[in-house]
Amino acid sequence: MIRDGDRVAVGFSGGKDSYTLLETLVKLRARAPVEFTVCAFTVDQGKFLAPVEPFREWLKERGVEWTLKVDNPSLRLLTEQPDHGCDVCSRFRRRAVYAIARELGANVIAFGHTADDFCESFLRNAMFTGQLSALPAVTYSRKRDFRLIRPLVYVTEEMTRGFAGETGAPVIPCGCSLKTGTVRRSIRDMFAEIEKEYPYLKSTLLTAMGNLKTSRLLDLRYLDLEGGPEEAEAGPLAVLDEPAFTES
Ligand code: SF4
Repeated sequence: MIRDGDRVAVGFSGGKDSYTLLETLVKLRARAPVEFTVCAFTVDQGKFLAPVEPFREWLKERGVEWTLKVDNPSLRLLTEQPDHGCDVCSRFRRRAVYAIARELGANVIAFGHTADDFCESFLRNAMFTGQLSALPAVTYSRKRDFRLIRPLVYVTEEMTRGFAGETGAPVIPCGCSLKTGTVRRSIRDMFAEIEKEYPYLKSTLLTAMGNLKTSRLLDLRYLDLEGGPEEAEAGPLAVLDEPAFTES
């Protein structure tokens, strides 16, 4: 994900995940076999439930340069269309993020999406959009001017919650985190229920995302209609004995 000479701008939302991401990258920078720099930025879209100034001290202690941008178009959106959905909101955020990253001279943008986000997105897309997809762990912006990375792909929110709690990070929630009756909330509840009996559920789902059996799906682009060579067999159940990450 990170290469020699990269300047990584971390999308810092002030939630438990972004604290974990930033701390991880700061620590990694000191030990990695490649040289890279890390800076952080926050886009204020008018959804924080408290002032975000406490971030400044925490980031200063870690020597991280921080940029805070209030996104006026998002604030107007809140007034003009208070019931807007995530698609519009994230489009506005994306535009602001690219503009800030450009100003910061970054070539990489890191987001704090976790294993939970990957799994939820995988199920949400399969169940509600008719696609077998999740989030890209590494991809590029449309014009290919930024590499977009999600280093916490194998980190659960149980871990980020524990980390943020232990370090006393001043977590400031976004108003959306309190919303109920959403698809996201239903999927989260469903996971929580199944995980009572199957604690490695997310680990197995992540393994599944990297272990496609295209001949057992229905996408005609991948079906072997002419009797080609056999599809390689992998061992998906191995993950049940050896999870991709340890639940704390
Ligand atoms: S959850 Fe809230 S902040 Fe996040 S994309 Fe949706 S509307 Fe925007």
